[in-house]
Amino acid sequence: MKTNNCIEVKKIQKTWPDLTILGDFSIPQGKILALTGPSGSGKSTILRLIAGLEKPDSGEIIINGTDCTRKHPSKRGIGMVFQQTALFPHLNVLRNVVYGLENRSYSKNEKLQKAEKILSLLGLSGFENRNVQTLSGGESQRVSLARTLIMEPSVILFDEPFSSLDQSLKIQLRNEIKKLQKELNFTGIFVTHDMEEACFISDYMGIMKKGRIIAMGETQNLFLKPGNVETLDFLNNGFIISGKEISGKKVKKSDNNCNTQQKYIVISTGFLPNMLTEDSSVRKKIQNSHEMIYTDESTFSFYATCVKKDFYGFSNKVTFEKNGEYFDLSLPVSAKINEKSCYRLFFDINSVKEI
Ligand code: ADP
Ligand code: MG
Repeated sequence: MKTNNCIEVKKIQKTWPDLTILGDFSIPQGKILALTGPSGSGKSTILRLIAGLEKPDSGEIIINGTDCTRKHPSKRGIGMVFQQTALFPHLNVLRNVVYGLENRSYSKNEKLQKAEKILSLLGLSGFENRNVQTLSGGESQRVSLARTLIMEPSVILFDEPFSSLDQSLKIQLRNEIKKLQKELNFTGIFVTHDMEEACFISDYMGIMKKGRIIAMGETQNLFLKPGNVETLDFLNNGFIISGKEISGKKVKKSDNNCNTQQKYIVISTGFLPNMLTEDSSVRKKIQNSHEMIYTDESTFSFYATCVKKDFYGFSNKVTFEKNGEYFDLSLPVSAKINEKSCYRLFFDINSVKEI
């Protein structure tokens, strides 16, 4: 069957003594999946299974339409980039980079040309004769990338490649990866703990927990529609709050349900920034209000009290309280907001869902 999926992981299973890891997903050609989740959730195992460094108990791995489940790692057309660069200390930069071409039928000149092109793409022209032990962390990681890219893999698996680098270097390198990906059009999986990095680099995002993929989808969609509470918690992109739904002046629920408190998922990125109004006049009245109000067709609102405001540099983390429940919103520093004041908060209607 013809498919434009480059990586197909079909019901793969690997049981370790302490954890069973399951994967069932596919990635279209030329796209990047960011795989994230707590330590020990099985991310590296998934990568190692795809690369052929571990054998699955069951399931299949198809790369570019070919069943690779039982193929040797070197025959899968996959490159891997790890946090530890594992360069050969006794070889210089150039020899490290061309090492993988050893068994390929290129002339010495062709190898050199390829190396020069890759080194230049990574800003490493002039580094050819450098002893790799004299390189900085960022330079080593670039050489490691060059060593992978020279093999022209159709798939590259990145296992937390930048987690030991400082923030500015991480940003520089992730920009380069994105640029290179567009240029070379490889398909990739990028494991990272850094949510900003994951969002920046990926088309799709998968979240793992205890050996299972609990959510996967287009990156932006996952943030806007986390689908389940575990995902919402992991992305830290919203909160759960109870209330009673009101549409106009009417309670939307049937009379029997008037006093029940429905639980709502509220996606914090659905907060409408210019619709935060201080409302002390109604403060008394709404202090014990469970109301969740449809303001109009497109907005949803409720009252809450600001209990705490912490400065986080580019934003304030503001903690609100509504009927004994607490939640945080990240608000611009310029938003005028005072502790102990009561606010009516407006959200995009699509970002508030009953659960
Ligand atoms: P992550 O990359 O998300 O931190 P890993 O895939 O490295 O997670 O590991 C997940 C779990 O799988 C580990 O906590 C461990 O229980 C088990 N595991 C991984 N590799 C091995 C191994 N080689 N032998 C035994 N158990 C392993
Ligand atoms: Mg890992």
